[in-house]
Amino acid sequence: MDLLNTLVDKGLRRESPTREEALAVLATSDDDVLDVVAAAGKVRRHWFGRRVKLNYLVNLKSGLCPEDCSYCSQRLGSKAEILKYTWLKPDQASAAAAAGVSGGAKRVCLVASGRGPTDRDVDRVSDTIRAIKEQDDSVEVCACLGLLSDGQAERLREAGADAYNHNLNTSESTYGDITTTHTYADRVDTVNKAHAAGLSACSGLIAGMGESDEDLVDVVFSLRELDPDSVPVNFLIPMEGTPLAKEWHLTPQRCLRILAMTRFVCPDVEVRIAGGREVHLRTMQPLALHLANSIFLGDYLTSEGQAGHTDLEMIADAGFEVEGAGEVTLPEHRASVVRGGGCGSHEGGGGCGSHAGADGDSGCGAHAGGGVCAPASTAPRPAEEPRTDLVSVRRRGAGTDLAPNA
Ligand code: SF4
Repeated sequence: MDLLNTLVDKGLRRESPTREEALAVLATSDDDVLDVVAAAGKVRRHWFGRRVKLNYLVNLKSGLCPEDCSYCSQRLGSKAEILKYTWLKPDQASAAAAAGVSGGAKRVCLVASGRGPTDRDVDRVSDTIRAIKEQDDSVEVCACLGLLSDGQAERLREAGADAYNHNLNTSESTYGDITTTHTYADRVDTVNKAHAAGLSACSGLIAGMGESDEDLVDVVFSLRELDPDSVPVNFLIPMEGTPLAKEWHLTPQRCLRILAMTRFVCPDVEVRIAGGREVHLRTMQPLALHLANSIFLGDYLTSEGQAGHTDLEMIADAGFEVEGAGEVTLPEHRASVVRGGGCGSHEGGGGCGSHAGADGDSGCGAHAGGGVCAPASTAPRPAEEPRTDLVSVRRRGAGTDLAPNA
């Protein structure tokens, strides 16, 4: 397929596909899905080999958020029967983090519900970061606390944070349809604050909220411009008790095409399969490892993932290996530069949480190279059978007396 050959060549050169080419990837048929995976897999292996980075979520504060993100089980008015608790103490959070690290995670993502942290919240999280680093200073710590005010990113960096996550989630033009209490521009501003403070930026998307192919391409191209080091790709978990509970639009093949498109647009960036991996990819998860170089180990913020040992077995069975603490995730040209530039395109140049939807709790170009059957419609695909049987509210780990899944 000419399109795929072109995209592989561009990916190896860190060159951006055109919008039409990205749309054409999303428009490929299920018959072509293995070809798409094989092509994007070449780009993934070129920049990341067969390594899979494991990340571990610690929900520091769960539920009772005043914001109204419609995908999120922790939102204002959510009827989802999730765990609700206030700030974990540093020793509780570091114990949860240690479980993830002993399970193979090299990054711990500290997430708290809410619009954004107060300065006192930043103090609390700083104490937790220090507690984790005292335990094991090789652990990467990413904070995900919502919208940042001036100076807060710098304070988190000083406390030892390595990264900050804040997702764009969807395209600018549809952002107002999923959230009314803050704007797309607010989110961009926080990612830029993280960058400016020297934190590795992590920002991604949620697919499956009823968006069009154009929306998906828009948000991934916007992410390329923002230049995060890691891009979590969430697949909406339509949680009962949230406004998007009936939005079942994804199939495993659609998820693979979305991951492939993201890889082609952000070839040398850590692409992470985030929330919804088990629910939507199901038995096709191993194929997705050929596209993404990073996953979350174990459970999500408010929902349960597959057993941590099953994640590890899947990685080994698929012929991949867990990235070690001493290995550098990013290609040398990205790992060694000062922040700045575009994902792949600029030479100058880590959901993770609730704000990311990472938890998922909660995300045609027919002339782009020929050989691709591209339907004209960009409407969401027909709903798949709802797999509510695969959605389990988290009842273990942080905020409970039960051992975490790691
Ligand atoms: S995504 Fe974050 S800000 Fe939005 S409702 Fe959920 S916890 Fe609140």
